[in-house]
Amino acid sequence: MEEIQKLKEENERLVKLQSAKEDLFSVSAHQVKTSLSAIKWIIKMFLNNDLGKLTAEQENLLKKAYEDNDRAIATINELLLINRSENIVEKKYEFSSINIVELVDDCIFDFSGEAHTHNIEVIFLKPGKELPQVLADKEKLRIVIQNLLENAIKYSNSGGKIFLSLTEKSGSVEFSIKDTGIGISPEGRDKIFEKFYRDSRAEKKDANGSGIGLYTIKKIIEEHKGEIWFESNTEAGTTFYFTLSITK
Ligand code: ADP
Repeated sequence: MEEIQKLKEENERLVKLQSAKEDLFSVSAHQVKTSLSAIKWIIKMFLNNDLGKLTAEQENLLKKAYEDNDRAIATINELLLINRSENIVEKKYEFSSINIVELVDDCIFDFSGEAHTHNIEVIFLKPGKELPQVLADKEKLRIVIQNLLENAIKYSNSGGKIFLSLTEKSGSVEFSIKDTGIGISPEGRDKIFEKFYRDSRAEKKDANGSGIGLYTIKKIIEEHKGEIWFESNTEAGTTFYFTLSITK
């Protein structure tokens, strides 16, 4: 009994330590990012000749500094994303009965600017009849939908279309998001939910990815006892699906 109590206390101590480490990491990374962003705007002012005309040599060196600084910002962003993903996956789940149609509408609204910038049309094919509510952790489910929507935009070309739909299927609701984008190569299809995995097609289209998003959202859907899968074709695009149980 005493042994069990000791193990329990040790476990609590380690959990606290881990959480303190994550907080310290997050605060430090944000501080570094703030400094790098400040440096970025100072260099930009020089490059815009706001502080007087630069010589060709000065301009060349400052352009290099600007690009190096941008790469450092991208690295910090990825580290923050990975840290955030680990926090999300491990954090306690709070389930309640939610209206998933409203949540999808909210997420589409959040990404309307991004879609517009990339000239991509987002179409929500709403269910013909009222859908039952689903049992979910709303904020975690929001992350799932946002991530799928972000990827669909990121891996589409200008003029592309994205279709979202929700369908009731025996005891559950099936969500789908279909894009007309670059697709996933046949050799990447088995690894797509692995941590840090990025398909060669994605690497070419957008160098700034971390391969953490799909890994995170698969974990979230699994915590909901749902399923997540996809179909992809390098000519026609990709469709991701997930299911969630209807609230009893
Ligand atoms: P990231 O987008 O940061 O690379 P994700 O974990 O979100 O990381 O996605 C992992 C990989 O899955 C991507 O790098 C890409 O190869 C592939 N992928 C995800 N969504 C799509 C999509 N809609 N179309 C094509 N490829 C996709």
